Amino acid sequence: MSAPAQSGLYIVATPIGNLGDLSRRAEEILGIADIILVEDTRVTGKLLNHIGKKSKMMVYNDHKSTADRDSILDAMGCKIVALVSDAGTPLISDPGYKLVRDAQAAGLYVTTIPGPSAAIAALTLSGLPSDRFLFEGFLPSKAKARTEALGALKALNASLIFYENGSRLGAMLADAQAILGDRKAAVVREITKRFEEAVTGSLSELGDRYGSEKPKGEIVVVIGPPGPPEAASEQDIEAALREALKRLPASKAAGEVARAFSTDRKALYDLANRWKADGTA
Ligand code: SAM
Repeated sequence: MSAPAQSGLYIVATPIGNLGDLSRRAEEILGIADIILVEDTRVTGKLLNHIGKKSKMMVYNDHKSTADRDSILDAMGCKIVALVSDAGTPLISDPGYKLVRDAQAAGLYVTTIPGPSAAIAALTLSGLPSDRFLFEGFLPSKAKARTEALGALKALNASLIFYENGSRLGAMLADAQAILGDRKAAVVREITKRFEEAVTGSLSELGDRYGSEKPKGEIVVVIGPPGPPEAASEQDIEAALREALKRLPASKAAGEVARAFSTDRKALYDLANRWKADGTA
């Protein structure tokens, strides 16, 4: 970034543990920013201290009033405003969404200095399929709401990523096993820090381990996708065909059931006609 930086909003990712992960661009923008919007001045103050900068900090969260946000937007018109969170990527289970939305709506310059995020780092360490994933953030802490949230994810054919804390981990793993089944999972802890670990196993194995042990530090849970559906039995297919025949003519019923069970339409059509012929449909 050799040309003078443009005024606007710079979304700056910061390390999730190891300060060596602060990128050169992030360091440069934090050094020249007129204002750094932070969650906690003590946390970002340490980072600024580490890079030897003294940029002005202002506490920001998405619960700020519209008037407060408007005055920040005004500043962006002529100043370099950086947005950081305590750790990782702003907006990812952290403040910033409303600010970015409003800055873009106001036609202001908005850019990102990408970097660490615990969700992606945990996925890469989990040993679970990484081609499709859903980031859920923190599950609700109340059991009923948590089981409902897990239920809504059950049918997704994707790895699931959750932020958690040590005291809730055992209950969360038990609920996940009850609702999602005994899938493969990983508890990834203290990424990029001294005690980094990725413990992998089935949800029941991890639930046994963390039911009693309350691990310290910061935690991400990654749960693998559901396994392939169990092959349907002949009885299941016949029951589906009988049900479909109550609603549809034989050809359509055979087509519907063949699609649902990935099986042979012609064989189902012949079966439906045999049932009709001998009066057992
Ligand atoms: N915006 C951040 C990011 O991009 O990673 C996440 C902020 S969220 C408020 C904080 C949660 O992220 C923690 O409670 C923990 O679940 C997870 N987390 C952050 N740093 C971590 C680390 N070093 N190791 C494991 N999990 C971490």
